[in-house]
Order: sequence, then structure tokens, then C-alpha cells
Amino acid sequence: MKNLVLFGPPGAGKGTQSEKLIQKYGFVHISTGDLFRWHTKNDTPLGKRVKEIMNSGALVPDEITIAMLKEELDKNPNAKGFLFDGFPRTVPQAEALDQFMKANHSAIHFVIALDVSEEEVRVRIAKRRTTENRADDEEEKLNKRITEYFTKTIHVLPFYESQKRLVTVHGIGEVNTIFENICKVLDK
Ligand code: ADP
Repeated sequence: MKNLVLFGPPGAGKGTQSEKLIQKYGFVHISTGDLFRWHTKNDTPLGKRVKEIMNSGALVPDEITIAMLKEELDKNPNAKGFLFDGFPRTVPQAEALDQFMKANHSAIHFVIALDVSEEEVRVRIAKRRTTENRADDEEEKLNKRITEYFTKTIHVLPFYESQKRLVTVHGIGEVNTIFENICKVLDK
């Protein structure tokens, strides 16, 4: 089994596609957004530290995020493959991830970017806001998250591209068609 990074802006469909990929391939799912939400919901010391940052829509500092990710990896020593969702979001995170994989005699085998325009993600998240009630989906915070993606996280793409590790999958259309296109990359 291989390790996969699923990459894309907020609202790109990473969560939806992750669920389907886990079902089909049995990946251990690591979503840093879900982990941070779990910590804030359960009011853990980490949750207390990141609550305000998350609610503002800003990125949590690398040091905190990378430490949490490492802990999650250590909890799953026998995982056959990881699906990273929402991580890495900065180049230092991407470098740390490579190091962790290397230390486990493994690697990131696939980086799949879901390509969805800024206009489309705004429409999708506006819809999601009416059904999911996430604290960070309010308009101002949402703007911040989208800006964080298009100013900071986007720089992770050339990092992987320059190493010929990036595959872009068109992220607009039927969920199943997008899923099949991701599977084609994994099954090659
Ligand atoms: P989105 O729907 O914006 O993709 P996520 O559910 O992945 O959001 O993450 C929610 C929030 O958690 C982010 O806005 C950020 O504050 C924090 N977060 C999640 N992953 C990371 C990360 N890799 N680095 C820094 N902050 C993160």
C-alpha cells in the first residue's frame, strides 16, 4: 500500500473523496482539520491553544501542526498506507512529512491536487454553510481560509511539481467521475 496526499482548497471535495478512497483502499485517514476540531470540541490543552486561530480561519503554526501529525503517525505503526487530507499546507510541513516517511522507510507516493477554482469553492462552501454549521464557515472566516490557501498553501504545489510528484485531477463535476479519475492515478 502507498501513501497519498490529497490536496486542494477548502471546499474542493477532499473530505468526500477521502471517504470513498478509504473504503476502496483501506487507507488510514489523517485529516489535520478533523484532528484540530476534535481537540477544540473536547477542550484538550492543544484544543485550547488552537481554538482562536482556527475560528479566525488562519493556519495553525507549523510547529503545533507538525507535532500533532507526528503523534498521529506514531499511533499507527502498522498502517499499510496513509491518506493525508489538509496536510501539508506549507512547505515546511511538506518537508517534515517527507522526513517522517523516510524515517519509517517509506515515502509519499502520490500527491493528487483537486483542481477547483476560487469561484467554485466559494459557491460550494456557501451551500455547505446551510447544512453543516461549522464555526469557521462564516463569511469573514471563510474569506480568510480561502485567502490562506491561495496565498500560503498554494506554494506547496510547486514544491511537489518540481520533484515530479504532482498529479492534478479536475475537481468539478460528478463526485463519482472525480473519484474514478483519482483511482486511475492510484491504480497505474
Ligand atoms: P478546510 O475546509 O478549510 O480545508 P480543514 O478542515 O482542513 O479546512 O481545516 C480547518 C482549520 O484547521 C484550518 O482553517 C486551520 O486553522 C486548521 N488546519 C488544518 N490543517 C492545518 C495545517 N496542515 N496547517 C495549519 N493549520 C491547519
